[in-house]
Amino acid sequence: MFEVSNQPPPLEPYNLFTSDIALREAVKREQAGWAEEGLTTLGATLGKPETIKLGFDANKYPPVLCTLDRYGHRLDEVEFHPAWHELMAIALRAGLHASPWAEPKAGAHVARAAGTYMLTQIESGVYCPIAMTYGSVPTLRQAPAIANQWLPKVFARDYDRRFMPAREKKSALIGMGMTENQGGSDLRTNTTRAEPAGDGTFRLYGHKWFMSAPMCDAFLVLAQSPKGLSCFLLPRWTPDGERNGIHILRLKDKLGNRSNASSEVEFDGAYAELIGEEGRGVPVILEMGNYTRLDCAIGSAGLMRQALAQAIHHARYRTAFQKKLIDQPLMESVLADLALEAEAAAVLTFRLARAYDESDEAALTYRRVVTPAAKFWICKRTPYLTFEAMEVLGGSGYIEESIMPRLYREAPVNSIWEGSGNVMCLDVLRAIARTPNVGEVLHRELDDGGDAHLRGFIKRLQQRLEASDRNDESQARVLTRDLVLGLQAALLIKHAPAALADAFCASRLDNGSSAFGLVPRGLDLRAIVGRAGPT
Ligand SMILES: Cc1cc2nc3c(=O)[nH]c(=O)nc-3n(C[C@H](O)[C@H](O)[C@H](O)COP(=O)(O)OP(=O)(O)OC[C@H]3O[C@@H](n4cnc5c(N)ncnc54)[C@H](O)[C@@H]3O)c2cc1C
Repeated sequence: MFEVSNQPPPLEPYNLFTSDIALREAVKREQAGWAEEGLTTLGATLGKPETIKLGFDANKYPPVLCTLDRYGHRLDEVEFHPAWHELMAIALRAGLHASPWAEPKAGAHVARAAGTYMLTQIESGVYCPIAMTYGSVPTLRQAPAIANQWLPKVFARDYDRRFMPAREKKSALIGMGMTENQGGSDLRTNTTRAEPAGDGTFRLYGHKWFMSAPMCDAFLVLAQSPKGLSCFLLPRWTPDGERNGIHILRLKDKLGNRSNASSEVEFDGAYAELIGEEGRGVPVILEMGNYTRLDCAIGSAGLMRQALAQAIHHARYRTAFQKKLIDQPLMESVLADLALEAEAAAVLTFRLARAYDESDEAALTYRRVVTPAAKFWICKRTPYLTFEAMEVLGGSGYIEESIMPRLYREAPVNSIWEGSGNVMCLDVLRAIARTPNVGEVLHRELDDGGDAHLRGFIKRLQQRLEASDRNDESQARVLTRDLVLGLQAALLIKHAPAALADAFCASRLDNGSSAFGLVPRGLDLRAIVGRAGPT
């Protein structure tokens, strides 16, 4: 047997919170310093070898659909590997599904964002029901009687895997069903019918082409009622204790996100209750969409962080051509460039999360414009970053025993669901056109901090934001990318070490690079990589 040499040890155990300088700084800066202790505990739990293994197992043994029992009665249940349940229990115990609503305080959304940013690094599939439950609360609150009944269960931290009426369970999770076979982005094409039952409730008939996490206890869904497209709460069990008429037709065979079940479903007279005003279903459910879009940015920033941490860890140990990889000048360029992207994603994500902790008009405007913009650009960059980080590990990065293939397969999903890239950019145009104080709010955020390069970039961006053709849809991606780059550069100049901010401006502004590692000469790359490596 050959001797094993020149191989790094696995990156475990490690603390995902204390080892991440940019995360720790962001938590403190964005008003969540009080959460450090809890985040340190969660970071240690997630970085244990046994927790890391749960992520591998939950993907190795994906969920299985059980449509009928042995006698032919409908079951419509999904069975998960125990690893999935253990990960869900960790997430709920940390309050990642609801803590800002259950225990509101300054920095609560930021603290929860930091927890989910770490969770997604170890396993992203469980993030889906966690994010949907988190996002569902403001929508549920539009029906106070229903909220009173459901929110105590939604806020509970005891994960309860049992399939039974929510009133008998310790806790409840909420999913979402909007997308239909004939149209997902264009929700007004929904055909699912909601027929009044005569007692104030409705019965749903139709289908959903995508409905993830079908073992949630209830779903927010869109259906056409007599007054138009409306939002409904669809529980898995009726108030009489019967299985509701939700038939799971199949589970999607997905590229990634394989630990999570995503289903196609049919509604056969399913019991449902109206949420919000009848006929105004899209704005009612899109209240949830804002939060799940924020979560796409958080999730993708987390994937970037994990890919970067693995890449730097590997390069620290592996020698090629008589030098550690991390000391090879060209590898240093690649790692530094990856680090710039990952920290820029994190700094914007946590700034955005703070806007969800605030309720003044400027914060609402910031959320409205920057949520779709950040979702677009951060999610769009993630597949490139995970691919490049995988290559740092050489051939081993392509092998399933490392986490890199899982990160790579997961990377595109946040860009597609909850509004795909183009839909996000068109939403940014809409937000800019319809939000009265947008110019003032962006002007304040786009502070060049004395950097001449950024000053010129912002000037050109602002001219485009004010130009008469700013609504040109064909240019929506260009405008959104530049808005995000301007915001990221301004945040880095304000909050990150000068080496990092300088390198970001020098490599990103006016210089749309097609691969990582194409950074100009004369930057302090060592300082950037040193800061980014897991400590
Ligand atoms: C793993 C996974 C899980 C999912 N889970 C859920 C779930 O739980 N609940 C749920 O409701 N949905 C879910 N979805 C569905 C997802 O939200 C939709 O797939 C997505 O919104 C896009 O809708 P669509 O597939 O119908 O594509 P389409 O709407 O047909 O869009 C196709 C492409 O056209 C682009 N496009 C659309 N309109 C325009 C335009 N006006 N101009 C330019 N380009 C445009 C889009 O950006 C996209 O790139 C899930 C999807 C995946 C992949």
